[in-house]
Amino acid sequence: MKKVNVVGAGLAGVEACYFLLKKGYEVHLYEKRPTKMTPAHHTGYFGELVCSNSLKSKALDNACGLLKEEMSLMDSLIMKAAQKTSVPSGNALSVDRDEFAKYITKEIKSFPNLVIHEEDVSDFLDGVTILATGPLTSDELIDKLSKVIGEESLFFFDASAPIVKKETIDMNIAYRKSRYDQGDDSYINCPFSKEEYDLFYHELINAELANIHEFDKHYFEGCMPIEVLAKRGYDTMRYGPLKPKGLQMMDRPKAYAVVQLRQDNLANDLYNIVGFQTNLTYKEQKRVFRLIPGLKNAEFVRYGLMHRNTFICSPKALNDDLSLKNNPDVFVAGQLSGVEGYVESAAMGILAAIFASNKLENKKQQLPPITTIIGSLRNYIVHADPKGFSPMNANFGILHGANKHNREECIQKSLTDIKLYWSKINE
Ligand SMILES: Cc1cc2nc3c(=O)[nH]c(=O)nc-3n(C[C@H](O)[C@H](O)[C@H](O)COP(=O)(O)OP(=O)(O)OC[C@H]3O[C@@H](n4cnc5c(N)ncnc54)[C@H](O)[C@@H]3O)c2cc1C
Repeated sequence: MKKVNVVGAGLAGVEACYFLLKKGYEVHLYEKRPTKMTPAHHTGYFGELVCSNSLKSKALDNACGLLKEEMSLMDSLIMKAAQKTSVPSGNALSVDRDEFAKYITKEIKSFPNLVIHEEDVSDFLDGVTILATGPLTSDELIDKLSKVIGEESLFFFDASAPIVKKETIDMNIAYRKSRYDQGDDSYINCPFSKEEYDLFYHELINAELANIHEFDKHYFEGCMPIEVLAKRGYDTMRYGPLKPKGLQMMDRPKAYAVVQLRQDNLANDLYNIVGFQTNLTYKEQKRVFRLIPGLKNAEFVRYGLMHRNTFICSPKALNDDLSLKNNPDVFVAGQLSGVEGYVESAAMGILAAIFASNKLENKKQQLPPITTIIGSLRNYIVHADPKGFSPMNANFGILHGANKHNREECIQKSLTDIKLYWSKINE
């Protein structure tokens, strides 16, 4: 029986195990809990949800909903567990978190070809390994990883600014310009009058914050949440990320403050709001950030967030098959691989397992189509701009060929293509 290691029994790790166990491999699963807990886990169960009990929308016209459907078609364990343990929550798929994790643990443990090691892994293991240790990976392993991929390819804090779709920015109000006309006109600028700034400032400093853990409250000065910066004083943002200097236009009234948006993907259809990492709830981000002139109808493909999160700079460190460029026996899955969210992390667990299995069988790698959400997530993390890279969640902005007019067509195509891919994988 061929042997494979999986480190971490979180959402990505259990999906990887499930695929490999069904294929008949001898799977060595390393998990440090319950002997050693992370700051966010509370139990020894596999697949524990660390925060919300929601796996987000069930609707197929929601990218995370579509991703879940693709995963169901790939026989995902997380999806089975969620169906079995769901609780009523309207259009969302929410679960009883204990029952969910218990179901997963029981299923995984039922395989006779599983060997469990209750161990805090601090070094790379021999042989083909899937690394799925998540955003709170133990420090010793982080040290080892940083030696292998280079310190500059490993991030410890996730401070991502919201990302909006370019086509939803009102370019009658916003304009293109780089500060002091240096370089090209790659930034989109949203100018405030004093009255607009006053309203925005007031709403921002009074907006509702998301619950954050104690260990998430230690900010780096260089990536301070925008509301924390604003609370330091009325003008602080105007001397920081909203500085209007060098961004004035001759044919327009003088701007009191300017928010800049920077291109976020190679397709040039997504823009992030520069300096707007935040702890505001998603609902408040939508309400308050839409007060920025030009963003009244902005569609958010990812909201800003801040929490301790270890993830690698995947475009630099990973091959197309999620293996490390500097050690192709190690496949990275889950949040560590540069995706964001429970479902997305689990999805990368399935892919890492497929790729690890292909490697063990000396088979040519088969990448999932980029017309699927799972395929576009993989494609995004390995091919995004490494500069300022931050984790990505499922959204239609990264789906190949998608625009706001062809949603239904894209959904059907993704489902057809994932079925085809899955049948090829199991040939
Ligand atoms: C505080 C916090 C809250 C979050 N809230 C949400 C949310 O509400 N919704 C959402 O969609 N996403 C949320 N996320 C993001 C992300 O989706 C989850 O963290 C998700 O659990 C990631 O899945 P994973 O499999 O990559 O990692 P995890 O589920 O964290 O699994 C990693 C596993 O590896 C184990 N491990 C770590 N290091 C070692 C080691 N050296 N040796 C052995 N075992 C090890 C851990 O004990 C853990 O069981 C949150 C993240 C954090 C940090």
